[in-house]
Amino acid sequence: MIRNAQIHFNDAGTPVADNFDDVYFSNDDGLAESHYVFYSQNHITERLHHHDRTRFVIAETGFGTGLNFLNAWAQFKQKAQDAKVKQLHFVSFEKFPIHLNDLIKSLQAWPTLKAFADKLCAVYPIALQGCHRLEFDHGAVTLDLWFGDIHDNLPQLSYGAEGFVDAWFLDGFAPSKNPDMWQQSLFDAMAALSRDHATFATFTAAGFVRRGLQQAGFDCKKVKGFGRKREMVVGRLEKANQQHNTPLFYQTAPRKLENVAVIGGGIASSCLLYHLAKRGISATLYCQDNELAKGASHNRQGALYPNLQADFTPPSEFYAHSFLYAKRLYDTVLKAGFNFAHNWCGVLLQGVNEAKQSQHQKLIEKSQWPEALIHFVTPLQASKIANVTLPYSGLFIPEGGWLNPAEATNAIYQHAKTLTDIKSHFDTDIEHIEKRENGWYLQSSGQEFGPYSDVFVCAGEHSDRFEQTRDIPLHGVRGQVSHIKAGPESSKLATVLCHKGYFTPAYENLHCMGATFDKNTKSREVTDQDNQLNRTQLMGFYQDTEFAQSLGDVTSAKAAVRCCFNDHLPMLGQVQQQDDFTSAFANLRVGKQYGFANPNLPHEGLHIITGFGARGLCSAPLATEHLVSAILAEPRPLSERVHQAIHPARFMVRELIRNKI
Ligand code: FAD
Ligand code: SAM
Repeated sequence: MIRNAQIHFNDAGTPVADNFDDVYFSNDDGLAESHYVFYSQNHITERLHHHDRTRFVIAETGFGTGLNFLNAWAQFKQKAQDAKVKQLHFVSFEKFPIHLNDLIKSLQAWPTLKAFADKLCAVYPIALQGCHRLEFDHGAVTLDLWFGDIHDNLPQLSYGAEGFVDAWFLDGFAPSKNPDMWQQSLFDAMAALSRDHATFATFTAAGFVRRGLQQAGFDCKKVKGFGRKREMVVGRLEKANQQHNTPLFYQTAPRKLENVAVIGGGIASSCLLYHLAKRGISATLYCQDNELAKGASHNRQGALYPNLQADFTPPSEFYAHSFLYAKRLYDTVLKAGFNFAHNWCGVLLQGVNEAKQSQHQKLIEKSQWPEALIHFVTPLQASKIANVTLPYSGLFIPEGGWLNPAEATNAIYQHAKTLTDIKSHFDTDIEHIEKRENGWYLQSSGQEFGPYSDVFVCAGEHSDRFEQTRDIPLHGVRGQVSHIKAGPESSKLATVLCHKGYFTPAYENLHCMGATFDKNTKSREVTDQDNQLNRTQLMGFYQDTEFAQSLGDVTSAKAAVRCCFNDHLPMLGQVQQQDDFTSAFANLRVGKQYGFANPNLPHEGLHIITGFGARGLCSAPLATEHLVSAILAEPRPLSERVHQAIHPARFMVRELIRNKI
C-alpha cells in the first residue's frame, strides 16, 4: 500500500515534504516559476495551435500539489479556445500523494486558479496504487494520476511504436534530495513514451540529468533558469524510438473511429457512446429491444462495489479502479442533470460464515487497500452503519451503494447525446455482420446498414451470436432478483448488505433481494421457485434478525442472463480470428516469445465489449474508456497487466502456451 505525504508549511506558507526536506514549489511565486520552467519552456501554447493531433499529452514526474497541472489547464482554457488541440491530457506520477486537506490548503495560495483547484479537489482520489483517470470539462481535460513510485508505474503504461507524450514536465524534488527518482531508467522510459518531436523541460541543471537525457536520445540545451536561478535544461526528441511494451499478441491496432456502429443497448453501450461523445465521435446504436436496458441492465437496484482480493492482483486492481472511476462517471452524469435513482450509502460485505470471515481476515492482514476504500467492522459497528441489528462482522465499502441500472443506462445515453450526434435504431435485431471492401455492414431482417469503419458488439449474452464472434468462450448465467415489501424494521436499513447475494435498502418501499445463479438455462422467465430461493438464502443468514422478520411478501422479480468468462473478467478489444491468430503466434506452443508472423486481421474494425458478469455497473464505465483510449493511441487508464487480463486474445494465448490449440 502506498503512503500519503507528510508535509508542513514553512514561514513563507510554502508546503514542504518532511521526508525529502524540500519545498513543493518556490518560495518566490511558485506559480510564475511553474509557468516559466515547465509550461513556457515547452512552448505549449504555440504547440496547441499547430499540433498534428486534437489531443496534446503532457507527462509530469511528481504531481505534488498539482500546481503544474492546474496552470496547464488554466492556460489551455484561456489561450486555446480556437486551437487545433481540443483535448488536453495530463499524465502525472506521485509516490506520496498529499492528503486532501493539505492539497486544499496548498492551493489556496493561487486565487487565479481557484475555479480549477476546486474541481480538482472535488475528485482528488484516495491513496490507491495505480492510475486514477479524472476528467474535467466534459472530457476536454483528462488527468491520469498514477499513484506509486514512478519506477513501478512506468512499465505499466502501455505504449506503441509512435509513443504518446508530447511534452515532459521533469519535476521532482532536487536530485540531491531525491536521487532514487533521477535514474537513467527514468530518462529511457521518457524517451520510450515520447512521440516524434516531444520536448522536456526541467528546473535542474545537474550534469548527470542532462547527460542521462542525452543518452536516452534527447537533444538537450541549457537555458536561463527562473528568477535568480542561472540555468535550467530543455530538450527535444527528434523521433519516437519505435519501441512498444505490449507483446505482439496483446496489441491494439490504432484506428481513427471515423464511422462507428454499436450493437447493444445496456450499460456497456451507453458508457461506450459517452466516451466516444466526449471525444466528438458520433455513432449509431442498434438495439434489438424497443428501448434501452432490457437485457441484464434492467434491474431496479444494482449494487455498486468492487470485488477485491487480499492481494493487489490484476483483477483486484481492475475492479478497484473501475469502481472509483464508475463513481466519478455516475456523479458527473448526475451533476449534468441526468437523473437516476441511486444511494451512495455504502456496501457492507458480511462475514456470514467461516469461509467469508477468514477471507475478510486475510484481506485486512495483507493491508493492500486504503481504509477509505474498505475497512473491517465489528458486528456492533456494522449494525450502527446499517441502522439495523446485524449478527456479523464485515468489511465496509463506504463509497459503494446502489443505483437503478436501467435509469443509469438511459441517463448516460442522454448525456452522451448532448455532446455529439447519436442515432439510434430500436427494435432492430442485428442478425449478421459482414466486412466488405468499403467497411462493415449490419443486417437485420431484410434491412442493411453501413458501411461503418468500426463496429462494437456490446450485446451481452448474445455477443457470440455472429459468425465472427462465435468462438468467443462466453457463457450465460441466469439470475433472478426478487422485490420484497419492506417492513417497519427493514425500512430502516441504511446500507447495502452482501452475504452470498445482496440485499438493498428499500426503494419505493421494496427491497431488492438476490440474486440466483443458474448456468443451465438461458430462460428469462421469472419463477416462484427462484423467489423462494432468494428468500430462503436471506433467511438462512438473517432469520433471527428483526429486519428480516419484518419483511413482507415478494411482489415482483426480474430475471436476465449475465454474460461471463471463466476468469470472471470482461473482454474488450478487437475480435480475433482463431486460425489466423494461432498460426501467427504458433511459437508460443514451444515456449518462444519471438519469431511470430504478422497475423492476418480479417476482422479489423470489429470490436467486442462483453462479459461483465455480475459486475457490469462497476466495471463497464472504465473498461469501455480504456478500450476507446487504446484504439485511439491515447494514454490508457488501465495498466498494461490489466490490459492483457481483459484482452480478447487471452484465452487463445493461454491455450497456445499449454499447447492445447
Ligand atoms: P446487457 O445489459 O445485457 O445489454 C445487451 C444489449 O444488447 C441489450 O440491450 C440487447 O437488446 C442488445 N442486443 C443483444 N443482441 C443484439 C442484437 N443481435 N442486435 C441488437 N441488439 C442486441 N452488476 C453489478 O454491478 N451489480 C449488481 O448488483 C448486479 N446485479 C445483477 C443481478 C442480476 C440478476 C443480473 C442478471 C445481473 C446483475 N449485474 C449486476 C450485472 C450487470 O447487470 C451486467 O453486468 C450488465 O448489465 C451487463 O451490461 P451489458 O451492456 O454488457 O449487457
Ligand atoms: N509538480 C508539483 C506541483 O505542481 O506541486 C511539485 C512536485 S514536488 C517538487 C515533487 C513530487 O515528486 C513530490 O510530490 C514527491 O512526492 C514526488 N516524487 C518524488 N519521488 C517520486 C517517485 N519516485 N515517484 C513518483 N513521485 C515522486
